[in-house]
Amino acid sequence: MLVDSHAHLLMLDVSPEEAVEEARGAGVGVVVNIGTDAEDSRKGVALAAALPHVCTTVGIHPHNAHAYTASDLETVAELSESPGVVAIGEVGLDYYRGRETGEAQRALFEDEISLANDLRMPLVIHCREAFEDVMSLLSGARVPVVLHCFEGGRREVEEAKERGYYIGLTGNVTYKNSRTAGVLGLIDAERLLLETDSPYLSPRPVRGRRNRPANVVHTARFVAERLGVPEEEIARTTTANARRLFGLPPEVE
Ligand SMILES: [Zn+2]
Repeated sequence: MLVDSHAHLLMLDVSPEEAVEEARGAGVGVVVNIGTDAEDSRKGVALAAALPHVCTTVGIHPHNAHAYTASDLETVAELSESPGVVAIGEVGLDYYRGRETGEAQRALFEDEISLANDLRMPLVIHCREAFEDVMSLLSGARVPVVLHCFEGGRREVEEAKERGYYIGLTGNVTYKNSRTAGVLGLIDAERLLLETDSPYLSPRPVRGRRNRPANVVHTARFVAERLGVPEEEIARTTTANARRLFGLPPEVE
């Protein structure tokens, strides 16, 4: 069994129910839905309540840093207590799409790190062209961290390893220009997670189509081949890691 540790179930071209059913048919037992603002987080909580194989995160994405209010942060804090909520995210910094909102992003990110510390919940991190600032602000985090959609090379892998951070591998690791594909062997197996980031970043061989949670199987296969280990081993390890990080109940499979 695999876990898709990062998907936006409310943004797909099929219903969340269909996507989860398709994923389960492909051997994906659990899908972690990811919140991007207060309203999206609220819908995610409802989804996790309605669908047995779905859990969710709550948080405000850096793309929404220009628009959030203190009451949005309160909403996120309140929602975090709902059943099925497993982490704060996705939060972080994105200088690729939002360098001009850097200051607002950093303020929001700091608030969300404090929130995760207070709640003792893991953090799901979005980091794009902002590795140094993300790592510097994360030194204030006292909870487990996953660097989602990881695209770093040797230096970033080693820094993540030093801090014990989880690394979420997405479909883009299968692309020819991936820096991470060449350093997979350096990643601590106990910290490896697989994810789709659906509807984005479809892995080869389904690149170019809108992504769905079932496609995490392609990323699993790619990583297993690169590491020279059986697919079942990658599935077992990454699922155990997701269970530990998100505290998934043992009966979920
Ligand atoms: Zn995402």
